[in-house]
Amino acid sequence: MLPPALPQRPPLLPQIDAEPDAELAAESVTDPAGLPLWDLVVAGGGPAGFMAAITAAEAGLRRVLLLESTPTPLGKVLISGGGRCNVTHACWDPRSLVGHYPRGGKALLGPFSRFAPGDTVSWFAERGLSLVEEDDGRLFPTSNRASSVAASLRTAAQAAGVTLRTAVALQAAEPIQGGGFRLALRGPGGAQERLQARQLVLATGSHPSGRRLAADLGHGLVPPVPSLFTLALAGAGMGELAGLVMDPVELSLELAEGRFRQSGPVLFTHRGLSGPAVLRLTAFAARSLKAVSYRCELGVDWSGGRSQADLEALFASLRRDQARKQLGGWRPWPELARRLWSVLLEQQGVDPLQRWADLSRLQQQRLIQALRASRYPVSGRGPFGEEFVTAGGVTLTEMNLATMASRKQAGLYLVGELLDVDGVTGGFNFQHCWTSGWLAGRAIAASAAEESFSS
Ligand SMILES: Cc1cc2nc3c(=O)[nH]c(=O)nc-3n(C[C@H](O)[C@H](O)[C@H](O)COP(=O)(O)OP(=O)(O)OC[C@H]3O[C@@H](n4cnc5c(N)ncnc54)[C@H](O)[C@@H]3O)c2cc1C
Repeated sequence: MLPPALPQRPPLLPQIDAEPDAELAAESVTDPAGLPLWDLVVAGGGPAGFMAAITAAEAGLRRVLLLESTPTPLGKVLISGGGRCNVTHACWDPRSLVGHYPRGGKALLGPFSRFAPGDTVSWFAERGLSLVEEDDGRLFPTSNRASSVAASLRTAAQAAGVTLRTAVALQAAEPIQGGGFRLALRGPGGAQERLQARQLVLATGSHPSGRRLAADLGHGLVPPVPSLFTLALAGAGMGELAGLVMDPVELSLELAEGRFRQSGPVLFTHRGLSGPAVLRLTAFAARSLKAVSYRCELGVDWSGGRSQADLEALFASLRRDQARKQLGGWRPWPELARRLWSVLLEQQGVDPLQRWADLSRLQQQRLIQALRASRYPVSGRGPFGEEFVTAGGVTLTEMNLATMASRKQAGLYLVGELLDVDGVTGGFNFQHCWTSGWLAGRAIAASAAEESFSS
């Protein structure tokens, strides 16, 4: 059956910076045992939970309750993207988009074919929030403020009639024979509460309570490991380069579980390396790095893609044309940072005062090797970048990815970071939340409409 037609969209909103009032009283309905009865309860007031609740309510579902365990919903949205919220990425083709998800990958082709970054841009625009694309494809709110994104979601939820309750956590969910769930909640001061829901969405992000709820409802879990972190390189002697950016740099890791390669900008930190190429590398290698306790060897090609033959020809021309110049004062190519070249000379024991004409064959070989294939011992996981996600979660094979419905428990839907899906940095993690939340919201409203039609 087709999903019911969307009711008319709420009127376009002006750019919103103020947080609207959160709580709306929904029509009170109880089941025969006197428990409050909701058509849908969404546990988790993050981006995925808001999207699921708003979409279901806008599609016609009436009693929608959104629970957030902390006092402030959308907490991660508010701190995301350095306070600017990188909402999505200008990667319009789902076939390219899936390449940005170390966990999820091709399985996400179906979901992204139904709700892609272009749909995210339109969805927010229809609700008064315009996004602007940066040179690297990341999309941010025009206001440059994450609070605008949070305000837009809260206003859309309120307009659609979603009831938001904060500082209330879902603690247990018990399936009822014949359909629906009996839910146990814990509110402020530990107050216990019970209610019933016809359908349930778990949108609890990486919080352990959500994983426990999913497991209690029959789901298998891939153990969580961190993703998107920097690398600590003890003893690499590069601390003095902190703050320097090199681009492009090719990085490689050879681990028991496979070979990982990434190329792009790299940022030197006091303890090691960061920057987009490092974060992509650690995202794709997250599990394999955990398996070796974050101790291994990092291969680095500083040469910007120059081949061995290119470099030999370049060095020959430098020995001839810059014969009287000192090595420390004349680097092989202008984009090779002076400070990095000095460190490489020092690491290879080459005197920076030596003239290019006097460079021996052995010294040349060692410098070319350092430029093309340096190896540094990784001594651990460094601090996270601006973004940080957990790899692992509910196994995708247990999900119907067209609807985000559980294959284990009727009436249950799982969305967002709770699933074994994570993306690299650049807005891809939120995109998965928008997509999975939207698909769940549509499917829930459609199944409710089907049920009321057949009853
Ligand atoms: C510092 C930082 C910056 C980031 N920046 C970006 C960015 O710019 N772009 C991007 O794409 N991604 C970014 N990310 C990643 C992104 O924030 C997450 O992927 C995303 O928030 C996951 O959304 P979610 O709705 O699945 O979970 P969450 O955002 O974690 O929301 C889940 C919510 O559920 C609540 N909850 C948990 N358990 C319960 C319960 N039992 N009952 C009720 N409520 C519960 C939690 O309190 C939480 O509010 C960033 C992450 C971090 C940490």
